[in-house]
Amino acid sequence: MMRKLFWEDAYVKEFDATVTSVEGNQVVLDQTAFNPRGGGLVGDIGTLNGVKVLDTIKAGADSIAHVLETTGSLVVGNSVHGVLDWNRRHRIMRMHTSAHLLSAIFHKATSALITGNQIEPDKSRIDFSLDDFDREKMLVYCSQANEAIAKDPPVKTYFMKREEALKIPGITKLASVMPPYFEDLRIFEIEGYDLQADGGVHVKNLGEVGKIEPLKFENKGKSNRRMYFTIP
Ligand SMILES: [Zn+2]
Repeated sequence: MMRKLFWEDAYVKEFDATVTSVEGNQVVLDQTAFNPRGGGLVGDIGTLNGVKVLDTIKAGADSIAHVLETTGSLVVGNSVHGVLDWNRRHRIMRMHTSAHLLSAIFHKATSALITGNQIEPDKSRIDFSLDDFDREKMLVYCSQANEAIAKDPPVKTYFMKREEALKIPGITKLASVMPPYFEDLRIFEIEGYDLQADGGVHVKNLGEVGKIEPLKFENKGKSNRRMYFTIP
């Protein structure tokens, strides 16, 4: 099983690893701090032995491939040193944590489910299934999110037995996507606000998000609402 350093500590910026597979321009390692694209998050970029990592993607059930600009002479068994583009990755962690907070606050106020999201370093979006389209109310929810950030509650991740986790109401607010089948589910919690099954990268304290700035609200059909936001 590939070791996911980003699950053990999302703040690992550099690491050493051993190449376990090279296919085309995709390299798999025995362990990595690069978080793969998925769940609405973009994949990490950075370098492996100084060569650009253009994207990080899931490769099979439990493997992660680094898409390199060129694999050059890399072969299985080589040692590599990985370095994340940390500024970008930290923004993704802040954005992702923000998206959870917003989803939790919208859900609490309206029972809205999340039908989609795209977390990017500069601008992110969340889609809600919500009958009402009331900009004023949505702005109020954003202010509530910023009040929560100012309180700076801890953010925790831990593992829980799947059957125990699925007993928790609202454990997945995603409308269509249930967590994939694993015996243990990785749980993400913003103390007092949100608890989700989630495999993504987050900040340790909500205060680290700084501030959520709503950019645009869109009406995307009968009950689909879209919100764009950023973190200045
Ligand atoms: Zn998430």
